[in-house]
Amino acid sequence: MNPTSFDYIVVGGGSAGCVLAARLSQDPSVRVALLEAGPADTSALIHCPAGLALMSRMPSISQGLQTVPQPGLNGRQGYQPRGRTLGGSSSTNAMVYIRGQHADYDHWAALGNPGWAWQDVLPYFLKAEHNERVHDAWHGQGGPLNVADLQSPNPFTQRFVQAGVQAGLPRNPDFNGATQEGVGIYQVTHKNGERFSAAKAYLTPNLSRHNLQVMTGVTAEKIVLDNGVARQVQVLHDGARRTLSATREIIVSAGAFQSPALLMRSGIGPGAHLQAMGIATLRDLPGVGENLHDHPDAVLCADAPGHSELFGLSLAGAGKALQGIWQWRGERKGILTTNFAEGGGFFKTDAAMAEPNIQLHFVIAKLVDHGRQMQLGHGCSLHVCLLQPQSRGSVRLASTDATVAPLIDPQFLSHPEDMAQLLQGVRQGQRILAQPALREVSQEWAASAQAKTDAQLEHWIRQHADTIYHPVGTCRMGQDAMAVVDPQLRVHGVPGLRVVDASVMPRVVSGNTNAPTIMLAEKAADLIRQTGRA
Ligand SMILES: Cc1cc2nc3c(=O)[nH]c(=O)nc-3n(C[C@H](O)[C@H](O)[C@H](O)COP(=O)(O)OP(=O)(O)OC[C@H]3O[C@@H](n4cnc5c(N)ncnc54)[C@H](O)[C@@H]3O)c2cc1C
Repeated sequence: MNPTSFDYIVVGGGSAGCVLAARLSQDPSVRVALLEAGPADTSALIHCPAGLALMSRMPSISQGLQTVPQPGLNGRQGYQPRGRTLGGSSSTNAMVYIRGQHADYDHWAALGNPGWAWQDVLPYFLKAEHNERVHDAWHGQGGPLNVADLQSPNPFTQRFVQAGVQAGLPRNPDFNGATQEGVGIYQVTHKNGERFSAAKAYLTPNLSRHNLQVMTGVTAEKIVLDNGVARQVQVLHDGARRTLSATREIIVSAGAFQSPALLMRSGIGPGAHLQAMGIATLRDLPGVGENLHDHPDAVLCADAPGHSELFGLSLAGAGKALQGIWQWRGERKGILTTNFAEGGGFFKTDAAMAEPNIQLHFVIAKLVDHGRQMQLGHGCSLHVCLLQPQSRGSVRLASTDATVAPLIDPQFLSHPEDMAQLLQGVRQGQRILAQPALREVSQEWAASAQAKTDAQLEHWIRQHADTIYHPVGTCRMGQDAMAVVDPQLRVHGVPGLRVVDASVMPRVVSGNTNAPTIMLAEKAADLIRQTGRA
């Protein structure tokens, strides 16, 4: 924990934090500290893609948070896992590489965020990316983040793609190209059969830089203001409290739940809530913790007896898993290179819509309760998620103790339009499962298949839906009274402090959120450097 003074302190070593630490420390004249609450990313379960299946059993690297009871989910509490290690959630996620729709970013700009339209952000997607297969104007070459096709795609996933085509969707070989609509196999953040997290892409190659100090096991308790300017971070390390100073900026990249929590513990947030928690309000920012939203998702399961190429508990499956371990250790190929959510697609529930409003993830196992319940026998699952939910919730402090999880309330399916669209999406998912390519070998579970009326299906959705792990928006950028950061991602009214992570997204992108968060941090690094030079 020496030295204690830096030019920049980045709090949170996740998708955004790794990018910032690497980009800012490219300048050898500045000293950068990266603080990460979790441990180093040494576990083999991080690097072996199929280790994803065991993440919920690894609390030391994947924190299993919970929502407050959700009326829209019939009172159930949602599960909210978050990576807690170098790489953050990019070390524990499903590795699907998706950017969202061009219109998402044009919408951000239209909300009062100049510089964030599609044409502005595309150069940063390109800068970040090295795409192994696609060489065209939509994709980058030579960037730190390796994007690849699956090393050993499961043959069963092709059945899903065929079924999607049989249901009338176009085949799409590149969801990040000119058009998102259609079905296909996802590209993944992998390299040579291993997960390629933000830590692997940005941090690991730069750990020897003398001006970059990466500190793990360090929890930021609060940002300390001096005359209203962010100057220090108070941290907990090995049970001891320390203070680290930043001469230029402190950048909060603790993710959509912990970034607003850290601001609130620091006295930056909604005054009434801070007062109720006994925290002195240093900057009354009512938007901190508001605007929480996330993709609600319902998973259809199907049995596929005898298809032991799919994951599942059986003698044949156990044999294949053992063979897979051997193969992955030897040549980084085989079934353990799967990200499980191998296939997917995007479609509109109403042909009049300008863009798809539903995303599919096809999983080569029966996925129940986020994979926390093991299933006997083999089968597959189809995640159906709503891309632009209108429900909005919040994050609030449960305690002033930084080690206590905040209260997470996404208000899932509280907006009637969300249920209406998700229901149509699930019906289309069922139509895909019923196409010959899948129907011949698998059978949808009775609980969803027997939900014939809309009321029955709505009940099934409220009993089973939950997150697909894309919370955003709790420190949203903008220039109105409820915005937390400005379009340069500087916290309104607190010089020396920025937030850079998924929490600043004003509206969730129409797709997975890792690549967009990395893009955001790439752009932020340029914005920070420009300020540093001014
Ligand atoms: C199970 C799962 C599956 C997913 N699948 C996909 C997918 O396939 N594709 C995709 O694009 N996206 C996926 N996502 C979403 C994506 O990974 C996240 O949106 C993205 O990683 C968020 O990046 P971030 O920088 O905002 O936060 P994170 O990457 O979560 O990083 C936050 C970091 O801050 C640290 N931290 C928090 N509080 C403190 C503190 N007080 N002091 C110090 N450190 C702190 C945390 O430990 C963590 O390392 C998935 C997410 C999960 C959880």
